[in-house]
Amino acid sequence: MQLRANAALKALMREYFQDLGAEDPARPVAWCTSVGPAELLRAYGCRVYFPENHGALLGVTRTAGACIPHATAAGYSARICSYLSSDIGSHLRGRTPLAEAYGLAAPPRPDLLVASDNQCREVEEWFGYYARHYNAPLVVARVPKFLDRIEGHALDYLTSEMEQVAERIGRALGRALDHGRLAETLACSARATALWKEALACARHRPAPLTFFDGTVQMGPIVVLRGTAACEDYYRLLLAELRQCLDEGRGALPAERLRLYWDGMPVWGRLRALSELFASLETAVVASTYCNSWVFDAFDAAEPLRSTARAYAEIFINRSEAWKEEYLERACADFQVDGLVYHDALTCPHNSNSRFGLPERVKRRTGLPYIVLDGDLNDLRCYSDEQSVIKIETFIEQLKQ
Ligand code: SF4
Repeated sequence: MQLRANAALKALMREYFQDLGAEDPARPVAWCTSVGPAELLRAYGCRVYFPENHGALLGVTRTAGACIPHATAAGYSARICSYLSSDIGSHLRGRTPLAEAYGLAAPPRPDLLVASDNQCREVEEWFGYYARHYNAPLVVARVPKFLDRIEGHALDYLTSEMEQVAERIGRALGRALDHGRLAETLACSARATALWKEALACARHRPAPLTFFDGTVQMGPIVVLRGTAACEDYYRLLLAELRQCLDEGRGALPAERLRLYWDGMPVWGRLRALSELFASLETAVVASTYCNSWVFDAFDAAEPLRSTARAYAEIFINRSEAWKEEYLERACADFQVDGLVYHDALTCPHNSNSRFGLPERVKRRTGLPYIVLDGDLNDLRCYSDEQSVIKIETFIEQLKQ
């Protein structure tokens, strides 16, 4: 379904990228990982650029395939994160889809890079490449892994790490942190993330007014613009439209017979094909771990650094297997799904949850069947259209029976 909000979304993303491309020494450009402390950088007066978003753009435009070999030739294995290899390959090749989409000849030059290893160690290698290339400072937030609960000593450690990250950013920029501005930015981000959560929750209803595939488009502002009023305004607009769809009983698909959950990364180069395939099978993919990764319930303007530390540590990818099982069980019940699709992305083991028996354990808890789709986020050499279509069609056929 075409949402009216899409026009505002396009304009907002264009404005964001054009602002990044403008010369403005008073507002340095900071590169940040997608679940890194963007609010902190905005409070320091930075414009924030997200290389993972560029990675996704390389995937969606199917230009990643032409870029990856350039990174491989420079010594980056074809088996590591294909966001990393396609992004570095795009840099080496001197071509970016930002040119056609937003008129930017290249991603903006960084004054500073900030990575959080809450998601994987790859981001440090990725940002390290650019820190060397541009001779720019790199700050890395170290986050303990796979926690069940984030409290007590763990939270104290995370808070002190975030305080040090804030100090290192301040030193690199030669600026003092305005704590009032940080609290305001965080409050704004908290409101936006709550609106995004509500927008995704609209898909609990039947028929669902948006699918996972719509979500991968709609998530743009919460990834790249959280902490800005424009982001908050956008999700208010989107939510109002989705609520209107609910009132009118309008679903994202012409017919919704089955509902599925998607776990893992999108296959960016096959979003449209997969979206059309599921729609043709009257199956709505109504929820995903991925789109939900930018819901940060912990943000609290009364405790900006502590709650930032907590919010960015308690993301799904960084939790224990037991926590993930409970989370998936709850999500499947909330969204009333009939089954799950696990995407095993070859170059992202961190966001592939099918390798250590989790699908079977979730099946024991929920009784829900599942399939594992072999593929990748950006490297389409790892993805077979034929095998995926057969697997999905067979699965849905069985569910219908
Ligand atoms: S989480 Fe996966 S896709 Fe994201 S940067 Fe790390 S390895 Fe790449």
